[in-house]
Amino acid sequence: MTVRRDVLVVGAGPIGLVAALLLADAGVRTTLVEKETEPGDLPRAISLQDESFRTLEQLGVAAALKAESLLDTGSRYFGLGDRLLLEARPVASRLGHPAKTQFDQPILERLLWERAVAHEGLEFLRDAEATAITQDGDGISVTVTTGDKTRTLTADWLIGADGGRSFTRRAVGIDLAGTTQPQRWIVVDLHNEPHARDPFAEFHGDGERPYVLVPGVKGRLRIEFMLFDDEDPDEMTTPERIRELVVPRFRAELASDDVRRAVVYIAHQRVARTYRAGRAFLVGDAAHLMPPFAGQGLNAGIRDATNLTWKLIEAVNGGATERLLDSYEVERRTHGAAMVTVSRRIGAVVMATHPLVTRVRDTVVRTVSLIPRVREFLANMRFIAPPDYTAGVAARAHGVTLGTVTVGRALSQPVVRDATGAERGLDAHLGRGWTLLQIGGPPGAAVDAYWDAIGANRLCLRAPDGEPTEPTDGMVTETTAVLTSGAGTLPVFVAVRPDRYVAAVFDSAGEQRVVERLRAFVDDRSRRTDPYSKALHPHSRPPLNRTTR
Ligand SMILES: Cc1cc2nc3c(=O)[nH]c(=O)nc-3n(C[C@H](O)[C@H](O)[C@H](O)COP(=O)(O)OP(=O)(O)OC[C@H]3O[C@@H](n4cnc5c(N)ncnc54)[C@H](O)[C@@H]3O)c2cc1C
Repeated sequence: MTVRRDVLVVGAGPIGLVAALLLADAGVRTTLVEKETEPGDLPRAISLQDESFRTLEQLGVAAALKAESLLDTGSRYFGLGDRLLLEARPVASRLGHPAKTQFDQPILERLLWERAVAHEGLEFLRDAEATAITQDGDGISVTVTTGDKTRTLTADWLIGADGGRSFTRRAVGIDLAGTTQPQRWIVVDLHNEPHARDPFAEFHGDGERPYVLVPGVKGRLRIEFMLFDDEDPDEMTTPERIRELVVPRFRAELASDDVRRAVVYIAHQRVARTYRAGRAFLVGDAAHLMPPFAGQGLNAGIRDATNLTWKLIEAVNGGATERLLDSYEVERRTHGAAMVTVSRRIGAVVMATHPLVTRVRDTVVRTVSLIPRVREFLANMRFIAPPDYTAGVAARAHGVTLGTVTVGRALSQPVVRDATGAERGLDAHLGRGWTLLQIGGPPGAAVDAYWDAIGANRLCLRAPDGEPTEPTDGMVTETTAVLTSGAGTLPVFVAVRPDRYVAAVFDSAGEQRVVERLRAFVDDRSRRTDPYSKALHPHSRPPLNRTTR
């Protein structure tokens, strides 16, 4: 008899690890399949956004990663003669984490990998390569090869998180649309950086050899150089050539153990034509590939995993409609494609070398920066727009508005005080599933049975200057008015999705409309149990390796 899983995840790069851990933490029977035996160690992502930290916090690895990261950073763009064209920094984050952080992808991968290995509810197969995939109305099967042995795993759903060359993507017949960036780059990660540097990534379009310089903590420094057509990748990664690139411009000396890693990479600007084929979904680089200039590839992948997994948890528990599963592509593909475009555009600006083009570029940037609105747009990095999921699992508000709450956008994370007087970020009180936040009015206002049926956590949020009431469980108070600003005396409700996005803002008069709209995605009538309660009791389900269905 075949051992049957709820979800199979192919690929334990950062995105597959995040997806598998989110599923396993929710009690979903998950198997993660990885062809390597150790976590990835390549010099790749270095810029992490607040929203990614929000997910990593849920997985319990955010604090350890922050200790190894340079928090709250920005970007500086330099033109000809190394003159500063633009200094940019994202506006302060609403999400309770630094807006932009310089981190180290191998450290993140190791933290996630170790959590996955230790997770009792997750089956993590290493040295196991997915080599065939078939699916039908009953399930999806993956042939996994280790050495000369093969076995077949079957599940209800499959997540392809197997990177840019995704086997899953090919096996389920999804194409990638787009192009390959002609310019190659060499990434050099250094140790023992002696200079104190400002917390900015530097993009130097000097018209000669464009380069990018990114400081880190604990003496780490990344330098990326564009290569010219006639430069051979093997030769450019030899110690002699790396020394020529780095000394004396960036370092007076370079010992051999100062170089952590050096690799040449080719960037693509491509998006999968669809993110779903039947029971298979693509996430991360399997779904989109982009040049690194906007620092978005891994961030987009973490958003994919966070978005898809709560929908699959609903599917496993019987509440997901086809529309909910299709909403993954609706919500994520548009934003992924937008990030590919912005990455390509920033790359074109940085990589220009033609004398006329670089002069025009510098003049245009200086001139448009004189227009206050354009300057604000560029200086606050608004060109990297956050996702907007109003076309997906959302019910637009009619006449009800509240503080910084916007339907389709990530919920802000203010600091709140609980009944014990402890102050923490709001996320600590949201739980893993849906939350129905009540703002204003007496706690525990009557609401439709739908919310209980979808397992929504009820939480009452009080304004800092609200009428004094006895602190109770299920009630928290903002320390400064963020979500509660503009709240009146009548209750207003915020339906918060498991991924911390706002699905609806409504009052009692608008509740039925919201319930009907959300029921088209999460159907309380077919939903079996509260999936998230299992996460508290991971052993209440039979362990994977002994279960047959
Ligand atoms: C130079 C550079 C700089 C970057 N900078 C940034 C940045 O600042 N910010 C940012 O957000 N992103 C950045 N990125 C992008 C980021 O590194 C990627 O988006 C990220 O690594 C994608 O993760 P993934 O898990 O989707 O894929 P991968 O990391 O490629 O992981 C895929 C995994 O699947 C496994 N696998 C593949 N095939 C199979 C199979 N058949 N069976 C089993 N396992 C399989 C692989 O072994 C691997 O472990 C950068 C990339 C580069 C190259």
